[in-house]
Order: sequence, then structure tokens, then C-alpha cells
Amino acid sequence: MADRALEALDAGELTPAEAASAKLFCTEVAHRVIDRCLQLHGGYGYMNEYPIARLYADNRVNRIYGGTSEVMKSIIAKSMGL
Ligand SMILES: Cc1cc2nc3c(=O)[nH]c(=O)nc-3n(C[C@H](O)[C@H](O)[C@H](O)COP(=O)(O)OP(=O)(O)OC[C@H]3O[C@@H](n4cnc5c(N)ncnc54)[C@H](O)[C@@H]3O)c2cc1C
Repeated sequence: MADRALEALDAGELTPAEAASAKLFCTEVAHRVIDRCLQLHGGYGYMNEYPIARLYADNRVNRIYGGTSEVMKSIIAKSMGL
């Protein structure tokens, strides 16, 4: 999905709804994957000394900046006439 969005951007054909879809999907999947990885590590996963905790903290903001996930959903919904 990210590759398709990049190709569309390069071709000047990326629509706001497609960009919002790519941003939403990639950030939400990354969040789910990293959260599961942290869970797998148990208490160590929560400690700043371990890279997984840093990954979790660094990734968390992706669902907020550049447009929150809720706002991405709103853009996608509007493009569908909802
Ligand atoms: C580290 C960091 C770097 C940033 N860098 C930049 C930058 O370089 N340039 C820049 O312009 N901005 C930047 N921002 C700002 C960022 O874009 C905003 O934080 C983001 O747009 C969310 O706005 P807000 O923080 O005011 O939250 P709010 O708009 O107050 O949102 C709070 C919550 O309410 C939800 N919400 C708000 N409105 C709706 C709605 N209509 N429907 C449903 N849910 C809604 C949001 O999804 C969110 O969950 C940065 C933010 C951070 C944390």
C-alpha cells in the first residue's frame, strides 16, 4: 500500500483519500505490531533500557501528528460520500 501511494505521488496522481488511507493503514499496523512485540517482551518491553520500549514510544506519535488517525478516517469517509 505504501509503495502504491509512493508511485501515485511520483506520478502526481495521489489523492487526499489515498494518502489518508496509506497513512492510516501504515501507522495503525505499525502500532499493532510494536504493541504485540512489547507484550511478548513482558516487563522488559516497558523498560526504557530495551529498544522495544523506545520503538513503542517513537511510533506512538505517528497516530497523532501529520493528521490523527481519526482525521484520516474522516477524510476517507468524506471521499466515499459518507
Ligand atoms: C511531535 C510532534 C510534532 C509535530 N510537528 C508538527 C509540524 O511539524 N507541523 C505542524 O503543523 N504540526 C505538527 N504537530 C501537530 C500535530 O499535527 C497535531 O498534534 C495533530 O494535528 C493533532 O492536533 P492536536 O494535537 O491539536 O489534537 P486535537 O485536534 O485536539 O485532537 C485530540 C483528539 O481528538 C480527536 N479529534 C479531533 N478532531 C476530531 C474530529 N473532527 N473527529 C474525530 N476525532 C477528532 C483527534 O483524533 C485526537 O485523538 C506535531 C505534533 C507532535 C506531537
